[in-house]
Amino acid sequence: MQTTSQPTIPIAAPLLSDEDKRRVLAVLESGHLVAGRWVREFERAFSGYLGAGHGAATSSGTTALEVILEVAGLVPGARVITTPFSFVATANAVVRRGYTPVFVDIDPETYNLSPDAVSDALRRTPGVQALLMVHLYGLPCRMGALMEIARRHHLIVIEDAAQAHGASVGTRKVGTFGAAAAFSFYPSKNLTTGEGGMVVTDDPGLAERARMLINVGQSSQYVYETLGSNYRMTEIAAAIGVGQLARLDEHNARRRQNAHSLTEGLQDLEWLTLPREPRDATHVYHQYTLRVPHHRDRLAQHLTACGIGTRVYYPTPIHRSPLYRRLGYGEARCPEAERAAEEVLSIPVHPALGEEQIQRIVHAIRRFDPRH
Ligand SMILES: *Cc1c(COP(=O)(O)O)cnc(C)c1O
Repeated sequence: MQTTSQPTIPIAAPLLSDEDKRRVLAVLESGHLVAGRWVREFERAFSGYLGAGHGAATSSGTTALEVILEVAGLVPGARVITTPFSFVATANAVVRRGYTPVFVDIDPETYNLSPDAVSDALRRTPGVQALLMVHLYGLPCRMGALMEIARRHHLIVIEDAAQAHGASVGTRKVGTFGAAAAFSFYPSKNLTTGEGGMVVTDDPGLAERARMLINVGQSSQYVYETLGSNYRMTEIAAAIGVGQLARLDEHNARRRQNAHSLTEGLQDLEWLTLPREPRDATHVYHQYTLRVPHHRDRLAQHLTACGIGTRVYYPTPIHRSPLYRRLGYGEARCPEAERAAEEVLSIPVHPALGEEQIQRIVHAIRRFDPRH
């Protein structure tokens, strides 16, 4: 194993500009810390960027998902098809709202919900009302096939786009395909506000119900129409978001450039599989994820020793976590998700990295000997 004196390359790092910092100071100096012009501006700008009619800012991606599940019009006890290969918040939103997740296997090449597996599940399972898809690692799901299945079965489509700000299929951005989409602005995401999220939709009724729920169920001041909560975004967060959005395309272009350099440097290695980009979709590389069939943990240790941060997203498919086993989902059959959890390893690709650091990563991986 090799050690290094160079600074560790982190797996993720937010890229904040001097302008972002000045804007935060301006918010502080204004004294208006909540429910003001920046939240409205960020909602308008982000939904407009995607090509959606409405945005309702939230305190996190998790709360955005919960809000959508509550206002999307599902009947009590509805079943919701979703992927077990995601961050736990995806399935938690379903369970917390009293619905039943139906875990369906992924496609081993995209790591996203397999359209064939979704069709099979619909044949076997009555009472499915919604399809909650995740565009994992920044790669859009196979939208043509999934939207056609949803149309045939009259499913409400919800997108968890927490990892896919700016990703597109053809000219259409993800987050605009379904009834509503949830975005996250956590620091590791392609666009950050610290903590934060947004519900994005074209449906004015859904947007209004979401806004009410986010803001203690108020239709106007002290008029409580529904049992809401406080899921609001702060002005400071929204002000950061406006600046981040202005640079999102540039940051995504750098992620893509870094990804292409990694692919160029690693493509001849037979012991690992690199991420693929289908012709009709634009991957925004929230993560650059290797599949390493037999040596994943040893490669991770080697890279740590070389000063390169790595992470496994995700080491346990959701249905196999202690909570979901206890809830009775442990026996769901998702062999591809289980295999992926044992084989994936994400390496740094974020836009703060330049070509020199990318080459350090390439060389460190090339020095790894999978035989011992
Ligand atoms: C980050 C993330 C979330 C949750 O977002 P938070 O802002 O961290 O609450 C939900 N789903 C996916 C797929 C995520 O990556």
